[in-house]
Amino acid sequence: MVLQRIFRTVIMGPPGSGKGTVSGRIVKRFGLTHLSSGDLLRANIKAQTELGLLMKSCIDQGQLVPDDVISRLILTEMRSIEQSSWLLDGFPRTVAQAETLDSVCSVDTVINIDVPFQTIKQRLTSRWLHLPSGRVYNIDFNPPKISGLDDVTGEPLIQRDDDTPETITRRLKSYEIQTQPVLEYYRSKGMLETFSGTETNKIWPHIQAFLSKKLFPQNETVVGKA
Ligand code: ATP
Ligand code: MG
Repeated sequence: MVLQRIFRTVIMGPPGSGKGTVSGRIVKRFGLTHLSSGDLLRANIKAQTELGLLMKSCIDQGQLVPDDVISRLILTEMRSIEQSSWLLDGFPRTVAQAETLDSVCSVDTVINIDVPFQTIKQRLTSRWLHLPSGRVYNIDFNPPKISGLDDVTGEPLIQRDDDTPETITRRLKSYEIQTQPVLEYYRSKGMLETFSGTETNKIWPHIQAFLSKKLFPQNETVVGKA
């Protein structure tokens, strides 16, 4: 299946809501280009760029990095994939960021993953990450085939410095205060599509069905007639 036009999607949800996992599935199923602000920042920290070094303490403390810094980083990346359909993950996180995004492009749809905070707290402390790819594992419900190693490359997994109980609490607070207004912003424009649940595997089929209908409306008609 080939997309007829460029399609731009934003995925939102509190930290640990399964954004990374769902994004991976969307990218694989629909061929969108994945743009993750968290992955971009972590790549900068790993490469010890000036920006990465400046932002590390902010991130480790569970605070948002300044709007202008992250906006510049994301818009630069976006320019290089201008001709592609993309999925934006982790941006916008403030209303100011959403307005910046609006000023450069029009977004087709915003997917909101809604998971209770209590579920999230349990999840994040058992989360492991393959840093180069952004692949996420959870030792409770989505473990790697070999403990501590990435399924695809066999490289070691890490735990994020900001996945400690205290930092998680702070990240959830910042989500409530700074990011929930972004949901309202998109809801008032009629762009928000919310998917609620406690398990990624149960939420995913609904997101997949929604995107299939959005991206390939012509196929839906064919299925309906059959
Ligand atoms: P998860 O990886 O489970 O989605 P998360 O949403 O908290 O959790 P990332 O999106 O990976 O994590 O972001 C990690 C950190 O990077 C954030 O806590 C924040 O400090 C910083 N960050 C990422 N995106 C933004 C943004 N759009 N604005 C400001 N800070 C950001
Ligand atoms: Mg993420």
